[in-house]
Amino acid sequence: MNTKTDLINISGVGESSIKKLNKIGLKTVEDFLFYYPFRYEEYKLKNKIKEIVSGELVIFLARVELLDSKRSYVKKTNFTKAILKDDTGKIEAVWFNNKWIKDSLKQGELYYFIGTTTENYGSVEIINPLYRKYNPKKEIKSDIINPVYRTTKTLKQNILRNIGKKIFSEELNLEDYLPEDIKEKYNFPELEYSLKNLHYPSNDKVLKQSRERLKFEELFFLQLINERRKIKNQKRESVKIKFFEDETKKFINDFGFELTAKQKKVAWQILQDIEKETPMNRLLEGDVGSGKTVVFLIAVLNTFLSGYNSAIMVPTSILAMQHYKKVCNLFFNKDYIGDINIALLSGSECLLNNEKITKKKLQEKIKNNEVNILVGTHALIQEDVKVKKLGLVIIDEQHRFGVKQRHILTHENLSADKKYPHFLSVTATPIPRTLALAFYSDLDLSILDEKPLNRKPIETKIVTELKDVNKFLLQELKEKKQIYIICPLIEQNEEESKFDLEIKSAKSVFEYYKGLKQFKEYSIELLHGKLKAIEKSKIEDEFSNGKINILISTSVVEVGVDVPNANTIVILGAEKFGLASLYQLRGRVGRSDKKSFCFLYTKSKSEKTLHRLNCIISAKTSFELAEMDMRDRGYGDMYGYEQSGHVPSMKIASIFDIDLMLKAKEEAEKIIKIDEDLEKHKELKNRVIQKENEIHPE
Ligand code: ADP
Ligand code: MG
Repeated sequence: MNTKTDLINISGVGESSIKKLNKIGLKTVEDFLFYYPFRYEEYKLKNKIKEIVSGELVIFLARVELLDSKRSYVKKTNFTKAILKDDTGKIEAVWFNNKWIKDSLKQGELYYFIGTTTENYGSVEIINPLYRKYNPKKEIKSDIINPVYRTTKTLKQNILRNIGKKIFSEELNLEDYLPEDIKEKYNFPELEYSLKNLHYPSNDKVLKQSRERLKFEELFFLQLINERRKIKNQKRESVKIKFFEDETKKFINDFGFELTAKQKKVAWQILQDIEKETPMNRLLEGDVGSGKTVVFLIAVLNTFLSGYNSAIMVPTSILAMQHYKKVCNLFFNKDYIGDINIALLSGSECLLNNEKITKKKLQEKIKNNEVNILVGTHALIQEDVKVKKLGLVIIDEQHRFGVKQRHILTHENLSADKKYPHFLSVTATPIPRTLALAFYSDLDLSILDEKPLNRKPIETKIVTELKDVNKFLLQELKEKKQIYIICPLIEQNEEESKFDLEIKSAKSVFEYYKGLKQFKEYSIELLHGKLKAIEKSKIEDEFSNGKINILISTSVVEVGVDVPNANTIVILGAEKFGLASLYQLRGRVGRSDKKSFCFLYTKSKSEKTLHRLNCIISAKTSFELAEMDMRDRGYGDMYGYEQSGHVPSMKIASIFDIDLMLKAKEEAEKIIKIDEDLEKHKELKNRVIQKENEIHPE
């Protein structure tokens, strides 16, 4: 047997098991070796029957005293009972639907029994225990730790355990790719030993050691991959963007507010980066409403003044339109900027300097260096778009792009020239430091963890009655404030509405508010993803101009939308949204110095839901929220990271392994410094390349 051996060659694994194993990605011995158990069952060795209590996982030696098979007419099942005995007491064992037990166990003989104890009418018994005939040469001397693997409905735990036992009963002679000096320094065991003890630990101590090594290597590979990427980027050539101090001051002056200290600092970090001739590769991270847009627009200004063009990519057409308008506002008709061409390219609409243009013509102009600032959606990478003299690429709300999109979204795809543009990724998703260390150590990080000074905290409440909310809304409307009402669906599915009388669809909520007398004098509109682009854009315009008082919408407004005069958001069916979405949605308000409110409306009484909603209330920053969520669900689920492909999943390490993470980073940096291509670490290199492919499959 070697690592490439097909699992079908293992005795006890038949055709039907193979199919089930393949389904979860297990084909070879190697696949199995790295299919780690996610927990263990620890059976305590009991020397005497009298020590056994109910509700324990136990293993003990006993003699079979009485053995009897019966049929229960009430439950219509067969069962076998046995009295197990030693010199300190007796315990009853029961097996259901196992007629052959009676023939396989022998009265008067000694066996080891292993299973879970329960209580039955005051006495302890053991249900469906496994057993093994006593053999003085194979005495069990310590507790038994069994691995528990993730299984599927049809794939039984025992199949996996059996495979594990068979594999580890032989020497595998695995080649260890981890450098000797690292193993020595941290006292890590060898690969084969670690794997064996992770699957079948002989005791807690070796399990801990083995797990530590395997966690380390997982983090180490991530770090190596990042280091390699970083180096690749550093070897590329970019364009020099000069800093235009006077113009930048005037530009900031036009904002109508002072930049916060953090905004200044981050803008400066970016400006310094783009002045270099190696491409910037930076992640700008900042809570919703922290003012990221103006920060990156400062870089766009300097790029333009240096004679280069910028592209800004966003996940939704609504956001693209909003950014486009903001850019037009800030860049047109400024004497210190002069003539400039600004374009919008989204799936539904193309504009150049506020005039409609066909996609084809626009593409042509972009290629001919006739567009200086290009704002767009995915269309930027889906269509044939090549920007001449591209100096800066910005991806706003980058977490909204999937792994594949992000993969093609690397800056090289947009550029029509040989040089690489500078690259800035912008996100409101809180990435805790450790997560950033693990996954983004190839990027430089800028954090905007301060909101503009005049902001007040958003008052957030869970509500169960719309009547009370409506009263409040009317008060706010009187004071000329605007309101978002968010619904989880566009239309109610008929089947659903039969069972669920709650109003949750945007259309029915719209009808409901239209029908309320008290709301007659206010303008109410409906916004959702299925509207035509032109209608959407009209509604958004009117909402931002204050012509619409209440906007009833689906979560299309979730990311980026900025209407500072809207100060209240009501989220209906709040239980239907994920934490991250709720947080983002709430971030639509609290964008000015006015007090803002968020109502989470739910009829759910589930403790879990209420706990989740309370997290939104008690978290002060998105970082805090992310941490709460992580503690609840583990990082993998956090913010749908895994589904969105935001980060590659970790199998054994977690972002709480801060110490190991730092060690892994340090060691990876050291190795890459002396052996950039890993030519002196061949086995390690093979493994790293394999991992690189897993993370970014081409
Ligand atoms: P986000 O970080 O969520 O993208 P935006 O860039 O949309 O936030 O900014 C939110 C709002 O705050 C915008 O209306 C913006 O003009 C405003 N803003 C940005 N910076 C400041 C500041 N320093 N002082 C006051 N308002 C600001
Ligand atoms: Mg934004």
